[in-house]
Amino acid sequence: MELRVADTIKTRQLIVPQDHVAVALSGGKDSTALLLLLHRLLQAWEDVRLIAITIDEGIAGYREETIQSAERLTGRLGIEHHCISFTSLFGESLDAFLTGRETQACSICGIMRKKALVVGAQKAGATKLATGHNLDDEAQSVLMNIFRGDLSRLVRNSRGESHGKFIPRIKPLSRISEKEIATYLLINHAWNELPECPYTRYAMRREVRSMLSGFEYKHPGTMLNLVESKEKIERCDKGSVMSEPIRSCRECGDPCSGDLCQVCLLRQSLDR
Ligand code: SF4
Ligand code: ZN
Repeated sequence: MELRVADTIKTRQLIVPQDHVAVALSGGKDSTALLLLLHRLLQAWEDVRLIAITIDEGIAGYREETIQSAERLTGRLGIEHHCISFTSLFGESLDAFLTGRETQACSICGIMRKKALVVGAQKAGATKLATGHNLDDEAQSVLMNIFRGDLSRLVRNSRGESHGKFIPRIKPLSRISEKEIATYLLINHAWNELPECPYTRYAMRREVRSMLSGFEYKHPGTMLNLVESKEKIERCDKGSVMSEPIRSCRECGDPCSGDLCQVCLLRQSLDR
């Protein structure tokens, strides 16, 4: 697995000399494996710096344990670690924002967490933001965007990253399955049983995950085919789906495709 990730990093130039890589470390399995692996692989790269950023959304009974796990790991590896909370950034915890809106938990959390990670990476002076998305996550996202009819989101990532105001996001584990990551953690004595987010039960991803796992079991290669199909669509798109120019948000100046960015739009709807 390490060799495959090293090869992905090299051939896709995900990390280059003098990069300052911020790893989004939730403390869960994928991000733990990513940090362990990058720590090993990048030891030979003297001019590349690695730090970890953890976002504390404020989810009672869940986030505390994963933050402790992240602190133990970064302490053991000697990696600089920053923790940013929703309360310090947005004024309230996710639990508070979600009162009466629990069914929208993951959409709201996703938008705010993305913003928090960008703020953390910018503060740390990072040149790349690495996330632990694995092959299963990527395949699930493809299917979810298709189910929602959201083609612009399907091809948005690669287009957005080319805009100068973004810190490029990299996903070194995007070709590594959840099972391989679990095995890697077990072999490296880094497996941790952690609680599940209480909002997972509202997530569409949970249903898609179970369906796709069944397909993968019966038809091996399904997940990889989905991710590669998305990449083919992106290469063929040539702007017909994502034709809007990237602009600056009227409120906060962040890059966005409309008048307001997703965070400012969300804030307006939460204030109503
Ligand atoms: Fe956020 Fe949803 Fe993940 Fe919980 S399951 S941390 S609410 S995205
Ligand atoms: Zn904004």
